Amino acid sequence: MGWISDFKSRNSDIQSTIDTCLKTIALKDPELAAFVKVECDDSGRAASGAIASKSGKLRGVPIALKDNICVKGWEITCASRILKGYVAPYHATVVERLLSEGAVLIGRTNMDEFAFGSSCETSAYGPTRNPHDPSRAPGGSSGGSAAAVAADMVPVALGSDTGGSIRQPAAFCGVVGLKPTYGRVSRFGLVAFASSLDQIGPLTRSVEDAALVLEVIAGADRRDSTSADVPVDVYSKALGGPVKGLKIGIPKEFIGRGAEPAVEEGFRRCVELLAREGAEIVEVSLPHTEYAVSVYYVVAPCEASSNLARFDGVRYGRRDPAPRTLAELYERSRHDGFGTEAKRRIILGTYALSSGYYDAYYLKAMRVRRQMIREFNEVFKRVDLLATPTAPTGAFRIGEKTGDPLQMYLSDIFTISANLAGIPAVSIPSGVNAEGLPVGFQLMGRAFDESTLLKAAYAVEDKLGAAG
Ligand code: GLN
Repeated sequence: MGWISDFKSRNSDIQSTIDTCLKTIALKDPELAAFVKVECDDSGRAASGAIASKSGKLRGVPIALKDNICVKGWEITCASRILKGYVAPYHATVVERLLSEGAVLIGRTNMDEFAFGSSCETSAYGPTRNPHDPSRAPGGSSGGSAAAVAADMVPVALGSDTGGSIRQPAAFCGVVGLKPTYGRVSRFGLVAFASSLDQIGPLTRSVEDAALVLEVIAGADRRDSTSADVPVDVYSKALGGPVKGLKIGIPKEFIGRGAEPAVEEGFRRCVELLAREGAEIVEVSLPHTEYAVSVYYVVAPCEASSNLARFDGVRYGRRDPAPRTLAELYERSRHDGFGTEAKRRIILGTYALSSGYYDAYYLKAMRVRRQMIREFNEVFKRVDLLATPTAPTGAFRIGEKTGDPLQMYLSDIFTISANLAGIPAVSIPSGVNAEGLPVGFQLMGRAFDESTLLKAAYAVEDKLGAAG
């Protein structure tokens, strides 16, 4: 049973649940630094006012939010110096939906600056540590959310995923991470990184909890024109249904690509479990996924450089105190406000979009992206789901990859395609590696078919739990 159902069936006391969360945070967070700020006071009231309603699907459920999701009245910084002091003037749509179902918002979790990264190390607040081994990174960019859930500080956290930022930290911290279909969840009130790739999703300790949270946050929103008017299923109802007859594709390009042995082993074990339950396993080919990382690192920085142009010292957050000219105000505010990785992305994106290079980089990347989408569409005519590992390794050490951005970028090799194709994907724990660190198994599904995705993930989780 998931945390939320258990909490409800025991009719647990909301106040004592919040107390337990706050105590656990007080005990563990000085070392782990999963939170940027605990916003909730002892009585469970968040800064935005009285929260726990009398009813609701998430009544009394404590939830942490990544520091890029707006809550009216909270300082929202995206773990960047440039947004220091910025107070959100409105709620993100996901926040409105959580509140209207009675959730208790506990606080803001740490992240890579503007979600640029795979380790939480680019945060202006310093890194979050992995609860399984504090000398290691929790993954990123939603590393604070993953660590907070893994360390039992909260049962649920929201993150955002542009190239793997929910799933990779979920794998590193041994929790469940779901990236919904592009358009499934409104992005209104999510600070934009790459607008054609970003999605908000839950990090939880079980597939069932992820399904229940998705039910609440999903659905069309007139304030986000990219949110889709596709009916929201009761995802939790699909869980426990048979996986017999489901066709699961194994993309041959994803296998044997240098993943560590425990990752491959965990992957095989999960696939075997599905086969034993009657799923049909088929090898498939997605030749253009070879270019996924390259395409992503053109498209994502291009969109990021455009989105980050709004942080100029005039309207949001940090403003240089003594500029002599307007140009100097922009330059100094941006120079001092952005960290190294943010500057790298802005420079990469601006370069790739500049006239003379646009065709060679951005346009070409978009063509390859379209080709990839075509391949996914073809493959999903033959199979219902695709299975791969989530990340090639377990958690790496803090500092291990910071000097080598390319190595860091490669930790998203399995997760990026789902964002480029806009399809839903989930990571669930698949075992531990030789160092005792969690590794993850990823399933990807057809656009807007989160029900099948979660049903299969639930079956693996269930059988894996039973097996040991
Ligand atoms: N790690 C990837 C990046 O650095 C993905 C980040 C994300 O999904 N926000 O861009």
